[in-house]
Amino acid sequence: MALACGREIRVRGIVQGVGFRPWVSRLAREHGIVGRVLNDALGVTIEAFGSTPALNSFVGSLEKEPPPAAEIAALEWKPIEALAPLGFEIAPSLAAAERRLAIPPEIATCDQCLAEIFDPSNRRYRYAFTNCTNCGPRFTIVRDVPYDRPATSMAVFPMCPACRQEYTTVTDRRFHAQPNACPVCGPRLRLLDAGAVQIHSDDPIRDAAQLIARGLVVAAKGLGGFHLVCDATSEAAVLRLRERKRREAKPLAVMVAGLPQAERIAILDERTRRLLTSPQHPIVLAPRRDGCELAQNIAPDNPLLGVLLPYAPLHHLLLDECARPLVMTSGNVTDEPIAYRNDEACARLGGIADAFLLHDREIVTRCDDSVVRVIAGAPTVLRRSRGYVPRPVLLQRRFDKPVLACGAQLKNTFCLAVNDQAFLGPHIGDLDNLEAFASFEESIVLMQRLLAVDPQIVAHDLHPDYLSTRYAKGRDGVVRIGVQHHHAHVASVMAEHDLKAPVLGVAFDGAGYGTDGASWGGELLLAEYTGFERIATLRPLALAGGDAAIRQVWRIGVAAVMDAYDGAPPRDVLARLRDVPEHALETVMTMIAKRFNSPLAHGAGRYFDAMAALALGIRHARYEGEAAMLLEHAHDGNVTSRFSYRIDEAAEPWQIDLRPAFREAVEALVAGHQPGELSSRFHNTLAHATAKVVRAAAERTGCRSVALTGGCFQNDRLASALLGLLSPSLDVYLPRNVPPGDGGIALGQAVVAAALSDGFGG
Ligand code: ZN
Ligand code: ZN
Ligand code: FE
Repeated sequence: MALACGREIRVRGIVQGVGFRPWVSRLAREHGIVGRVLNDALGVTIEAFGSTPALNSFVGSLEKEPPPAAEIAALEWKPIEALAPLGFEIAPSLAAAERRLAIPPEIATCDQCLAEIFDPSNRRYRYAFTNCTNCGPRFTIVRDVPYDRPATSMAVFPMCPACRQEYTTVTDRRFHAQPNACPVCGPRLRLLDAGAVQIHSDDPIRDAAQLIARGLVVAAKGLGGFHLVCDATSEAAVLRLRERKRREAKPLAVMVAGLPQAERIAILDERTRRLLTSPQHPIVLAPRRDGCELAQNIAPDNPLLGVLLPYAPLHHLLLDECARPLVMTSGNVTDEPIAYRNDEACARLGGIADAFLLHDREIVTRCDDSVVRVIAGAPTVLRRSRGYVPRPVLLQRRFDKPVLACGAQLKNTFCLAVNDQAFLGPHIGDLDNLEAFASFEESIVLMQRLLAVDPQIVAHDLHPDYLSTRYAKGRDGVVRIGVQHHHAHVASVMAEHDLKAPVLGVAFDGAGYGTDGASWGGELLLAEYTGFERIATLRPLALAGGDAAIRQVWRIGVAAVMDAYDGAPPRDVLARLRDVPEHALETVMTMIAKRFNSPLAHGAGRYFDAMAALALGIRHARYEGEAAMLLEHAHDGNVTSRFSYRIDEAAEPWQIDLRPAFREAVEALVAGHQPGELSSRFHNTLAHATAKVVRAAAERTGCRSVALTGGCFQNDRLASALLGLLSPSLDVYLPRNVPPGDGGIALGQAVVAAALSDGFGG
């Protein structure tokens, strides 16, 4: 046999677990190419042999039309000389490094599968578990590696001959589709009543749809957990769901059948349309269309709507039957993790759902819907979970020792980092109940196994009472490293954008434990990977009653006004705090004046609360961040003026002093100015003051890179204003693929801990 000339083609990007190799194999056959394709630690390598024209057109097609969920970041080839094989083969996956890359996230139902489930002549007509190499469940059904059917919850469903034929035929689009199934051999649906007793049904989806049409609440098992589903056009149905779920006002996500239906309820643009139809199919935040058919109480007082498109056949079928938008909210009681096991769901959701639409494909790992919003002109992942996890964040640096970063307390995610990859785990939620903590522990164990990572370094927040910190302290035989909360926020952006240290990091959020034990959250840091200097901070406000002040935002309003007027605010101003009983007001004022049970907090979020309490007359936040969100949405885009402020550069760190702003706001209120104007002027003031300290710090340090992060940068108004003031003269970076809030903090913890342990090479 003679040596043949061929090409070694290396492809980088999202090319594993997305049907890439079978597609390459089909393409090779079409072009008369022989050789092989294999996964490697960084992507895919193809060895291709054939005539030069055939090779040219083969390479051209590779670049032009990759499978829908794939993304080619780079394609390079070099000539090789070798013995050409007879056909084209897919080489088996072996190495640990490649196994890590090979566990894919869930991919929304593809067009071909969709066509099948609505085709009466197809054997998968109306089959709720239809999938192929390009779509279907992945991470949520995996128990172990390598990602192969026996290691998934599909193991209990032996394939029928027809499915097996598809699975083993290279040219079939179900070749090696691990969850492949059909009505003959695959999972089945059933319908249960509120008491978890099975209801006889020939068509559980149709019957569930009828219950929904009658205004009832159905718990439907999806890919990463249960949804609570009801008619999104019915005020009464939504109210019923809210009361039972104990979710007073927080916006509920709405699923619609397709883009045209989404346009009817939301104002979309090119970016939001692309996000809605991306393989991840996240919940996309977009302005609600006025006068649309949705019930008002879907998102009370909130102009933004969380919209998502069906991402599993079950959703498509349900939406088709119901022919109206549906509420699709996490199947849980507020603040608990999403339910994902049948028995558990029936027990926990029994008081909420009128019926259960179940199936017998086990969800191995819970994985909530992800949430994305366009912020300061670009899509930003606010909750990174289904569709993204366990896709790693690729870094330009290497973790010499594997790291587990335990994340924060609220919106917890953890991070496992190894080599040049950082794997953020699924959204766990707030770590303040047993359910959530158990979920956190289980999820870590599973991810460690799937990724074959045995952490030697465990990173955690400095807050001693975070359950994630306590978990870290309980891990023996590892190096434990505490990372300051806002340092981690900034380092997360540095890692995502591969920034060279130092970076000026603006970290604005609600609260994070400072190195002095105080509550920080209005910080400007000069950050290295290994440490930081606190350059500036917001003047702190007193939280009368501690945590009570975070819900009862009127208390912060009182604190801000008292501070602005040196303890003696004009009485008519406090009358703005509607419905606050006189005696409560007196008590809180005394507490603040005497510094009794009123810790000081630097959080920028508290200033939003204070202004919302004054300008909008909000007394209580009904969910975390509500007051700030309402203040953002109240803003009037035509107002460009701002209030005064002071920067105290004599203080150490510098202090951003908003007392002048609050005095002017109070005067404006008394003079009858509109809330929208106050909101805009407040946003403009905070942006202006921040830009000023950032510029001064840039001057002093010579540092030109700026990161804007922390939960407050979920606020488009603030982010856009500050970005506009700082760029292009400074290089400004925002979190994009990793959440700006505490859901993104684990990545920063991981890189800081690695740097501190000397294990973070360039
Ligand atoms: Zn498909
Ligand atoms: Zn079958
Ligand atoms: Fe934070």
